[in-house]
Amino acid sequence: SGIGSNLDGPVERVRVALSGLAELPQTRLIASSSLYLNPPMGPAEQPDYVNAVALLLTRLSARELLVYLQAQELSQGREKEPGPRWGPRRIDLDILTYGDRRIDEPDLVIPHPGISERNFVLFPLIEICPHLSIPGRGSVSRLAADIDGTALEKMTAVAQDR
Ligand code: ADP
Ligand code: MG
Repeated sequence: SGIGSNLDGPVERVRVALSGLAELPQTRLIASSSLYLNPPMGPAEQPDYVNAVALLLTRLSARELLVYLQAQELSQGREKEPGPRWGPRRIDLDILTYGDRRIDEPDLVIPHPGISERNFVLFPLIEICPHLSIPGRGSVSRLAADIDGTALEKMTAVAQDR
């Protein structure tokens, strides 16, 4: 699962999202990455993002998981009408991959499109599962080799408290 936030205390929001993932039914949180500070994609006049990824072991279907993630987004104050694409948001929870499944439905696309271009997804993924294979695209470490990650800032324990 991919996690992103850039409004109203993003560090805390990402942490709350992670504990939400840990409490999902029929699901175990296997690993979570550090938090990464990242300049916004899309409209530039918005705060930096805080991003992280988590590895889940779950008996939920991809669609059930999506429903839980959307409920978590709402409970963390994401507005239903999302505003501009890639505009600021309090919390964004995405399913990045689901085993080796490929799903292509109007409201659920897996692997998540954009994984292979997004440094704020690939670099955190390398931290927790470098050998993870993205169906149809290759391993995360190979994908990340083609991507510039210099703008990403891995947050230290100290920086996370500011
Ligand atoms: P993005 O995550 O691309 O910045 P949004 O979070 O605003 O954009 O998009 C939300 C919509 O994306 C949801 O309505 C959901 O149905 C759809 N969606 C499609 N595939 C996925 C996925 N793999 N994970 C999460 N949401 C997805
Ligand atoms: Mg999303």
